[in-house]
Amino acid sequence: MASPQPSLPMSLVEGGQTSRAPTVAANLWRVREQLAAAAARSGRPVEEITLVAVSKTKPVALIEAALAAGQQDFGENLVEEGWAKFVDPDTASWLAGRAEQDVRLHLIGPIQSRKVALAVACRPVLIHAVDRVKIARRLDRFAADAGLTLDVLLEVNLGGEPSKFGFAPEALREAMDGLLSLAQVRVRGLMTMPPYDPDPEAARPYFIQLRELQERLAVAYPEGDWRHLSMGMSHDFAVAVEEGATLVRIGTAIFGERT
Ligand SMILES: *Cc1c(COP(=O)(O)O)cnc(C)c1O
Repeated sequence: MASPQPSLPMSLVEGGQTSRAPTVAANLWRVREQLAAAAARSGRPVEEITLVAVSKTKPVALIEAALAAGQQDFGENLVEEGWAKFVDPDTASWLAGRAEQDVRLHLIGPIQSRKVALAVACRPVLIHAVDRVKIARRLDRFAADAGLTLDVLLEVNLGGEPSKFGFAPEALREAMDGLLSLAQVRVRGLMTMPPYDPDPEAARPYFIQLRELQERLAVAYPEGDWRHLSMGMSHDFAVAVEEGATLVRIGTAIFGERT
């Protein structure tokens, strides 16, 4: 198996004490409270929403602090960083002795073709951002070799920004036959990242669009499983929950600003 990229700083995979650990626990409690409040406002059971703590660029010491505060779902957007921090026996030794189901790795970023093998080796609980049929097919092939079934979401580019990843909504139908026929890759729903705007209300129309797209796909492709909507980040997750998110991906509000 490939080893982690030499460019990854070792400080990322070093555990131990850090003065920021108490902050992580307090941040997590605050985020959970806000999540529960947003769920209550929209009459939804909070249990149907998974909080994914996005630990990208953050050291495992802070991940351990979150784990100690009861957090079990973690998100990384670079495959090699997820591998080094959560899977590689050489560098993820902090996980030794823990049951596999206690720490769940979500791969939340787009997956490049040459990273597919490593992504499958990570055994992620969910891949959030499949953005091309070609990548889904490749994931399927490697998952078959590894004897795994992979749950994935389709990333949808609702803002139409050319710089962003994801299927254009109108391209989804064309892609669907190829996606739903895969044996080892199971589509479980949709993911989106709206154009950045500091005002959380600016994201609401995109979250509504994603939910409406989910509803249309569920009618057009009842053989598929469309239950999940991965939407909402640190600044707009409450709005996303109000609009139906089942997974929110939160980094900054838990682990602090990234440098
Ligand atoms: C970094 C990242 C997040 C978390 O963003 P925050 O604003 O720090 O909460 C969510 N989703 C994806 C895909 C990311 O890359």
